Amino acid sequence: MYLKDYLEQYKDKKIKLFVDMDGVIADYIFGSAEDYDKKRPLYDSIKKLEEISKMSNVELYIFSATRYSIGFKQKQWWLDTYAPFFKKENRIIISREENNMTDSSTLKAQYLQNIKRDGSVLILIDDDPKNLKDVRNLNEDIVLLKDTVLVDDTAMKLQDVSVNRINEDILELRRNGASPKKVSDKYHTFEDYIDIRNLWFVAYCNERSDISGKSKKHYDEETDPMSNFNDDFIAWVNTPMGTVAQHLKMKYWDLLDVPEYERGPKYDGYTFEDSKKRIMSLFTKSK
Ligand SMILES: [Mg+2]
Repeated sequence: MYLKDYLEQYKDKKIKLFVDMDGVIADYIFGSAEDYDKKRPLYDSIKKLEEISKMSNVELYIFSATRYSIGFKQKQWWLDTYAPFFKKENRIIISREENNMTDSSTLKAQYLQNIKRDGSVLILIDDDPKNLKDVRNLNEDIVLLKDTVLVDDTAMKLQDVSVNRINEDILELRRNGASPKKVSDKYHTFEDYIDIRNLWFVAYCNERSDISGKSKKHYDEETDPMSNFNDDFIAWVNTPMGTVAQHLKMKYWDLLDVPEYERGPKYDGYTFEDSKKRIMSLFTKSK
């Protein structure tokens, strides 16, 4: 999705769009940091930003850090030459030299943190993951976009990109017949979370065996091709709003001290959202 389409969702709001310079509109490779006049302009991205600068609800800012203060002058010259549509008063160039050589990412994050919030949507485009990460740490409300949003149609919000990538990897695991059980958020694996959930479920069922049941057969096992147990059985609770069932591995069978039925309950088409409502209905004590 190109940036212009992406911004459409905020068309009723004011947008402050902060654009990093090096690697986003000026080529990193050509010219050293102290040699700014040799930096090549990335014309495609500049053209797209120029278009966006004409959108009435968008205020466009240059948001750049420079190692030495001499960079101010060089960057201004470069912008005047290649991207003059960035208004002079909207060119934020932070000098590391004037800030005890603090990291660019920290300076950028702190600068954005100190901006007065006036209801505008704040968006940052940057090519450096470290900048994006540090800005995120201090600024939960800022929309972060990787520079690719100016370049190709696969770009999305940074968070979406990461989550999509992880989801893809998990699907890939499954396609290869491997299990994502050991996928972890550092503290717990999927397997841990599922195990804990199942144990709580079993504990609840055992407490309320009067409304719970278990079976090794589905209601429509013979006619429903989706009814495949794979070493699972079905257990359920009849809540005031309807049944909620759960597949469990056979290792939980003996732990579950509830009446055993010939078959599980007939599936009434409830969704995941319905399940949550039904479970919540248990919170009101039944008579
Ligand atoms: Mg950069």
